[in-house]
Amino acid sequence: MTNSEVDVIIVGGSMAGTSLAFNLSRKSQLKIIVIDRSKRELLGKKCCGDIFFGDWEKDHLLTPQEDEIFDTWKDHDLVIHAEDTHGKTRFANGLIVDRLKYTQRLLKEAERNGVKIFANRKVVKPIIENDSIVGVVAINQKTKERETYRAKLIADTSGFAHVVRRNIPEGSFPLLEKKISYMVDGYREILKVDPKIDQRLIMVVSDDLPVGSFFWVVDQARGRVNAGMYIRNNEGEEKKKLPDVFKNILHTQFYTEDQYEVEEASGCPIPSVIPMTNIVGNGFVTFGEAGTQTSPIIGDGIRQGLLTGESISDIIIGAFDKGDLSEKGLWEVNKIVQPNTIKNIIAYFRLMAFKEFGNEGLKLLLKRIPDQIGAFFLTENLSFFEQLTSAFKLREKNILKALLKIQLNTRKLKKIFKKYPNTPENYLKWRDKFLEFIDDCIGSKQSLLVTQ
Ligand SMILES: Cc1cc2nc3c(=O)[nH]c(=O)nc-3n(C[C@H](O)[C@H](O)[C@H](O)COP(=O)(O)OP(=O)(O)OC[C@H]3O[C@@H](n4cnc5c(N)ncnc54)[C@H](O)[C@@H]3O)c2cc1C
Repeated sequence: MTNSEVDVIIVGGSMAGTSLAFNLSRKSQLKIIVIDRSKRELLGKKCCGDIFFGDWEKDHLLTPQEDEIFDTWKDHDLVIHAEDTHGKTRFANGLIVDRLKYTQRLLKEAERNGVKIFANRKVVKPIIENDSIVGVVAINQKTKERETYRAKLIADTSGFAHVVRRNIPEGSFPLLEKKISYMVDGYREILKVDPKIDQRLIMVVSDDLPVGSFFWVVDQARGRVNAGMYIRNNEGEEKKKLPDVFKNILHTQFYTEDQYEVEEASGCPIPSVIPMTNIVGNGFVTFGEAGTQTSPIIGDGIRQGLLTGESISDIIIGAFDKGDLSEKGLWEVNKIVQPNTIKNIIAYFRLMAFKEFGNEGLKLLLKRIPDQIGAFFLTENLSFFEQLTSAFKLREKNILKALLKIQLNTRKLKKIFKKYPNTPENYLKWRDKFLEFIDDCIGSKQSLLVTQ
């Protein structure tokens, strides 16, 4: 079966894809389809901590309705434990969102605006003609038939699968990185609990987990908690079975087996890399987790997917108006997502510092400057005064040095991005300089960068 040509194909109807479908459809008359391998009624659902880190209104996102929010949390609701040391820390405000309900509402709105949704279709590869992506091939999960879909623009928002980008042949799209090289394993369970935890959001850094990993418990109200963990597979360390590690921490620190029932249990990977610095090609754009838009340190991707879907929709509509959907015509997308890209690179620096000073270092931070750990993980910037105060309180030379290094590198990074090229022609030259800088910063040629 071959479907007729549309303007935009969005591969993946979760946070990122739905945001783009919703925003494009409310602002334009473009013909849009969303293709997803999941069932229609499950779009938006995923193994996730469900935490929206940030402020919806400030980000101008469509605020979730009351029944789409499990809980809200404020400044000091995050508690971090590192073995026997713990601290209450400041974290920006946020929400625990029912991502399924929220996504389903946005999709319905998009459908009302004319978007067609093709669920139960697993995209397997892009169709490339004359150096442009012009469509995708999908397998209908029910009939097992191959289907082809064609459009002027393909958006890959297929999450960690990054199914379109990953299947672009080597040699095509030289400015675009093809594969994500480093994934962290994520695992989470929704538990029906008795009794409930007395804090809303708890992050646990445990010596049972490889450095840079953490465990969380989030109160989802309704007598449920969302408990999960990210595990980094550091080189040379033995890979552990996720549910075993999970149960061990859960049982020793939170609930005994008779205090909960498991409602859901699942795991999936999440990218933890220096983000891509170009996310467009001829007839192509990728973002959300598929475009490496998650914080390498805390893995937040809900906000990033939603935000990018909103912010790039105007550029895409502009490119259609001009009739130029080439890499050059879409280049502005790279610039508009830059604040996010920079933030994720800084998060990567912080992850490296955390790995360097390890759990012992974190315990020290918790003892001396608990209030500021949240800002560290969430990549919030501290004011000059706050930095001075923490330097004064933190009499540990090595950690101070690591934090100072991040500060200096952040400044250099921003300078590099000021020279980001306005058109694709000078990108590779810029990229070489950027990569040199990254190698310098993390002190290794083996840089965990996204590779070809
Ligand atoms: C354990 C865990 C906990 C997390 N906790 C948080 C958190 O608390 N807060 C937060 O902000 N982020 C969290 N994240 C990250 C967050 O879940 C993702 O970054 C976010 O969902 C990314 O949205 P997305 O739309 O880019 O991709 P996804 O939500 O992953 O959606 C991808 C979509 O593409 C579809 N798809 C995939 N392959 C194909 C294919 N071949 N053909 C067709 N469709 C396809 C999928 O069915 C899915 O609908 C967590 C991740 C994990 C693994």
